Amino acid sequence: MPSEIDIMDQVTVSELARKMHLKASSLIAKLMEMGSMVTINQQIDSDTASVIAEQYNCTVNVVSLYHETVIESEQPGESDDRSRPPIVTIMGHVDHGKTKLMDAIRVANVAEQEHGGITQHIGAYAVSFDRDSSAQDRSAQDRIVFLDTPGHEAFTNMRARGAQVTDIVVLVVAADDGVMPQTVEAISHAREAEVPIIVAVNKCDLEDANPERVKQQLSDHELVPEEWGGDTLYREVSALAKTGIDELLEAILLQADLLELRAPYDVRAEGRVIESKVDLGRGTVGTVLIERGTLRSGDPFIAGVFPGKVRAMFDDRGSSVAEATPSLPVEILGFSGLPAAGDPFQVTADERTARTVGAKRQELRKVREAGSVSQITLDNLYETIKEGEVQELKVVAKGDVHGSVEALVSALERLSTEDIKLTVIHSSAGAINENDVMLASASNALIIGFHIRPTPKAQELADQEKVEVRRYDLIYEAVEEIRASMEGMLKPEVLTESVGVAEVRELFRISRLGTIAGCHVTSGHVSRNAMVHVVRDGAQLYEGRILTLRRFKEDVNEVEAGFECGIRIENFNDLKQGDSIEAFETKEVAKKL
Ligand code: GDP
Repeated sequence: MPSEIDIMDQVTVSELARKMHLKASSLIAKLMEMGSMVTINQQIDSDTASVIAEQYNCTVNVVSLYHETVIESEQPGESDDRSRPPIVTIMGHVDHGKTKLMDAIRVANVAEQEHGGITQHIGAYAVSFDRDSSAQDRSAQDRIVFLDTPGHEAFTNMRARGAQVTDIVVLVVAADDGVMPQTVEAISHAREAEVPIIVAVNKCDLEDANPERVKQQLSDHELVPEEWGGDTLYREVSALAKTGIDELLEAILLQADLLELRAPYDVRAEGRVIESKVDLGRGTVGTVLIERGTLRSGDPFIAGVFPGKVRAMFDDRGSSVAEATPSLPVEILGFSGLPAAGDPFQVTADERTARTVGAKRQELRKVREAGSVSQITLDNLYETIKEGEVQELKVVAKGDVHGSVEALVSALERLSTEDIKLTVIHSSAGAINENDVMLASASNALIIGFHIRPTPKAQELADQEKVEVRRYDLIYEAVEEIRASMEGMLKPEVLTESVGVAEVRELFRISRLGTIAGCHVTSGHVSRNAMVHVVRDGAQLYEGRILTLRRFKEDVNEVEAGFECGIRIENFNDLKQGDSIEAFETKEVAKKL
């Protein structure tokens, strides 16, 4: 038995047994002795693990594997802060000309190049544009990088992976068609990401083009053109006739100036993988968009969980390049495995760092996959409970000061009901950090922040891990919202839907049977066994069921509007002429927050 072991915040019983060189069954027996009933694959927290290990004179060190997987960015020198080219994503409704516009921009640019090479699709491309301006630092400013995948899905997928690379969105709207549903969607996605929008009013070559209408429509979505006093740049283009392209590029540079896009150049490179594939002759190739620093041939790096070394680099023309500076896309050879789009890419101080961090990240990924449960959110809570997956809502509670955390915890714990228990698995004062997120992820817990926010790293991790973080400024709000999701969803709303109405015209009292109402079905249909309301003078008098439904002394299952029938209602004989019998159906609908 080792005298010391390292574990993470959570450990499975089998893993703990393995680390302590014990049989899982004897560890389970020991846990039972101590009053914990656990199964071999169950996760126990580090406190429980420490207590049990103590029984064997073994010390438990809680380590955060995540911390060992983080590579700190290299700090730039004071003067190392230069402008970088803007990175643009083209969005818009289907068929409004996104692809055509991308091609027009690319082709116009390639034709200007002396080597006039064929562009390669590597996920992004850079265009050079000579604008006649006195801007300093022109080498950086007269380039624009376009992402190859138009549309907002790819944009948001990358964002969900913590990778927001786009600086400017060009919204393509066909001048003959105007604003369409996906136009509005694209606006929401760009706005959600706080990325400014430039509008390219396309297809202006068409006779029925109406750019003014587009401006009008988009003004309703708060994209007010400059000439109307707003701050949105509009350019009229034709991707087909290739007109207005230069003006559009100029507008992009204008917008980029406003954004003051800057990055250090003289540091170890960092970026994002935007595309990757296994190429028959070349092995794994990936395109990286550089976010800061300069990437050079021979640099050791880590991409996602894979270490590597830049063996060769190519630009979007397929030409070999020796270095790549911020915003530029480069295709790289030298990955040890296939990284995913959105994975962070970082150059490391040396190859050994890349390898050890890679190994740690792979270990962390395995741990996560082993404990992989879909993360709980307030919105999926009800389904999860219904499926019997949880009887417990676990919460990590964080707050600005100790006192408020205590108040929050006791308020939350009072929410426990017979059906579902609310457990605060961790609480402390201070910002929500990576450890909180990893804990919540491993335990399938929510994080509640009171008066505090996550650190940027923690937010990024939470996005990656799909851990829900909710922030509140009032304890009451936190409690009410969670209560609503627990109760509201436990008791779905019952909606009633009217299916038909019959009007009582005549009454037949039969001592043996009770009252039979001679009715005329005025709308919809009524059926035998249907649930009904008896309504008199607008007030609901009775709720019950149709016991018999007859036409011409025959029992029938259903009577449509326009027909006469005889109705007898179960346990209700006080019908009067003029009453309405309204048949209804009920539907259960889960309540939404
Ligand atoms: P996407 O779905 O937004 O990528 O749209 P496409 O680029 O595939 O274009 C859709 C259709 O519109 C194609 O038939 C294009 O030829 C046509 N189109 C695109 N731009 C223009 C334009 O400026 N003028 C005209 N007349 N047609 C265009």
